[in-house]
Amino acid sequence: MAFVLIIHDYDCNFVAIMKKSLILVTNDDGLFAPGIKALVEVAKKFGEVVVVAPDSPQSGQGHAITIESPLRLKKIHFMEGVEAYECNGTPVDCVKLGKHVLLKDRKIDLCVSGINHGSNAAINIIYSGTMSAAKEASLEGIPSIGFSLLDYSFDADFEPSKIIAENLIEYILKKGMEHGSLLNVNIPKLKLADIKGMKVCRQGNARWVEEFKEGMDPRGQKYYWLTGKFINEDEGKDTDVWALDNGYVSIVPSDHDLTLYKAIPTLASLEKLNIHAG
Ligand code: MN
Repeated sequence: MAFVLIIHDYDCNFVAIMKKSLILVTNDDGLFAPGIKALVEVAKKFGEVVVVAPDSPQSGQGHAITIESPLRLKKIHFMEGVEAYECNGTPVDCVKLGKHVLLKDRKIDLCVSGINHGSNAAINIIYSGTMSAAKEASLEGIPSIGFSLLDYSFDADFEPSKIIAENLIEYILKKGMEHGSLLNVNIPKLKLADIKGMKVCRQGNARWVEEFKEGMDPRGQKYYWLTGKFINEDEGKDTDVWALDNGYVSIVPSDHDLTLYKAIPTLASLEKLNIHAG
């Protein structure tokens, strides 16, 4: 039976009637990170929430999936009125299990991932477990949003991010999104009053210049620890990096077609190549 929730519109000019939504929540920082708690608190205002999240930190796992070992789901008490499971897999495993095992045959209205502790702007989207979880949901045709706050600390203030997330979730649930699309939302580390607004952007051409710090473990074996500097080589004012540097929330609509279309004509002569040995 459909449940009907009455909510106020953004400008409070009229009252909209909205079907109670089913929202899948995940992240990559693990179920015990404050960011996911903040996101669940927001999501539960819009309907039924099911949480499936990793039982350990999974940042940087990208679109990794588990195929060589068994996956497990354990129902846990997370928050009053919310069904929650911890999973021993990656963020993408969590979405797959949520969709195909826990919620099979049910239409998921929205998948939200995060709120990540740290930026997923620019090239970070490639490495991010937060964004890959959202991407996996979008591959299944579920509208999805990944949220990240530009603050790595465990004690980060998620209150402004919660308000941003609430506004965006309400907007997307009402307006919908094109099939298979997802949003990469990054939020600057600012008080709500200092956030200038939202900017819909392209992904900035900023990247990590990486360096491995070498050390010696207690058993006398060398180890390498990845470090790096985030370098922005993109002067554009239409990028996520610019928006965040200038006090805006960045929203990048993203796709999973990685084809470099402009290279197709350039490489077309390959099709006429006489394939030869040696
Ligand atoms: Mn993370």
